[in-house]
Amino acid sequence: MLSRAATAIPDPATHGSDQIHAVATLTAAAHTAGQVATVLLIVTIAVGFYLLTCLVWPFGKCRRCKGVGKFKSPFGNAFRHCGKCDGSGLRVRLGRHLINHMRAVRGAGQNSTSKGGK
Ligand SMILES: [Zn+2]
Repeated sequence: MLSRAATAIPDPATHGSDQIHAVATLTAAAHTAGQVATVLLIVTIAVGFYLLTCLVWPFGKCRRCKGVGKFKSPFGNAFRHCGKCDGSGLRVRLGRHLINHMRAVRGAGQNSTSKGGK
């Protein structure tokens, strides 16, 4: 093999001026603003999709009893209902809570203005 070729490549990006640097930061800022907008768009779509799934599937498994709804006694066939979900084993998902809240607020407004609609 050849010995190490000492090819000293001259670095062209060593003489940078402040002006170029400022422009670079400006374009970088614009770039990040675009990225933020993209991320926001993705987050909005994700949240919208999540709310849609909460509309169709409002329940999840209760986290304390893992959807069983009851706790078995270590001996015999005795059991007690889960206190968190009242034995249903269901948990209302966070998105559904949000939807319910929004509906309640909107419904309250509608009820106060137009009594006995439908
Ligand atoms: Zn439970």
